[in-house]
Amino acid sequence: MNDKMFKQTRFRLTLLFTSLIVVFLISFTAVSYIVVSSLITSKQKQQVAALAEEEYMEHKSDLLNWHNHHQNHLDKGANGQHHLLDYHPERQLFYYVISRNGEIIKGDESFPEIRENILQLINGWNPKNKEIRRETIKLGNGESISLLLSGKPVFQNNTRIGTIYTGINITTQIYIVKVLISVLCVISIIFIGLSVLLGYYMSGKAMVPIANAFQRQKEFVANASHELRTPLSIFQSSLEVIEADERDKLGEFSLQVFDDMKDELRRMTKLINDLLWLARSDANAIELTKEWFLLPPVIDELIRKCRPLAEQKHIKFVTNIQKDMAIYGDKERIIQLIFILLDNAVKYNTENGQIKIAVERDRKNVNIEISDTGIGIPVEQQALIFERFYRADPSRSRKQQGNGIGLSIAKWIVDAHGGTIRVQSEEGKGSRFIVTLPQPANGKGGEQ
Ligand code: ADP
Repeated sequence: MNDKMFKQTRFRLTLLFTSLIVVFLISFTAVSYIVVSSLITSKQKQQVAALAEEEYMEHKSDLLNWHNHHQNHLDKGANGQHHLLDYHPERQLFYYVISRNGEIIKGDESFPEIRENILQLINGWNPKNKEIRRETIKLGNGESISLLLSGKPVFQNNTRIGTIYTGINITTQIYIVKVLISVLCVISIIFIGLSVLLGYYMSGKAMVPIANAFQRQKEFVANASHELRTPLSIFQSSLEVIEADERDKLGEFSLQVFDDMKDELRRMTKLINDLLWLARSDANAIELTKEWFLLPPVIDELIRKCRPLAEQKHIKFVTNIQKDMAIYGDKERIIQLIFILLDNAVKYNTENGQIKIAVERDRKNVNIEISDTGIGIPVEQQALIFERFYRADPSRSRKQQGNGIGLSIAKWIVDAHGGTIRVQSEEGKGSRFIVTLPQPANGKGGEQ
């Protein structure tokens, strides 16, 4: 059980560590992408805007001349003749001087094959001051070309007579950014994998001192309770001797002290036995000896044992069990289990309360239900009460003797039989503990 607890904690620590690394790497990759791509493109943006200014200064007059020459006789003959275009394949920058009616008057290009696409993109576009557009052109062969476009209109007497468009091919830069990001993603995935291993290793290391301390504590509990058993039983037999010989001679006060001592001794013996039992169950030193036995006599005997305390609170017992109900399991352990549940049902019951014990059998299991009309258990604590040393709401449990061991032993016994134990409870109304113990298929007893 404790191994499971350590494994769970280790798993949680690893998960936490890995999630932190994942968040870190994702943010790192995202920030790198944003920073690198904006650094790269901001330079290109400056270039394409500067070029727009430059070409504007240089070719504004060309556009004015052309306009003055053509405005009288709208000569469209030059359309389609791009003999004024320069060709510089080594440059990434290009420009076109385009008249109002869409005619290319001058230009410098590096990839005539996409000229038509570019013209389509800028057709009708009237760039504002320093405006930059980012465009992607898909080529027939699946490749794509990324461009930054800018431009500057030329005016004469407040009418636009044409525009000078500039652009830059940033395909290579975009490609570099993409490669960089893919590489970062691959590295991140590798690091996430490594961080799982590292996290698992580190949390294992962190668990070692805890596990050691826990182990020492268990050993101490085991040794101490073992050592205390002998003096306690000597104490017990001495008290019995005194009681047998001297009881009549004791005065009223001494009798009271004597009875208190007996009570305290009983409590201590129970605690020590419980602790020793837990220590042995941790060391897997408890073996079950299963047999068939009749349940009703066992329950009657346990009720008799609980009666003195129950009568103080005027608690009634009700049973619902067939006389011949037999059950297969470790008799001693099952007696211990039912006693723990009955003892709690008495302890946490109210004045004039009731305790009901019902046993029934279906094809595969025996179900033992013990319900009380006591103080109940808050919902949020119901899952915790089976944990070792857990006591629900100390302020109200303190009134009752106990140390939070009982239900953890009960759970151990049920688990060892391959069964289940669960609780249904409403605060102030009562609690019902339901134990289900699997029975052999060829079971006998209990059937009529
Ligand atoms: P202990 O009774 O010694 O404190 P247990 O392990 O038997 O320890 O029970 C754990 C806690 O569960 C108790 O402290 C009590 O708060 C709660 N509990 C157990 N049984 C009942 C019950 N029948 N009614 C109300 N509370 C209960």
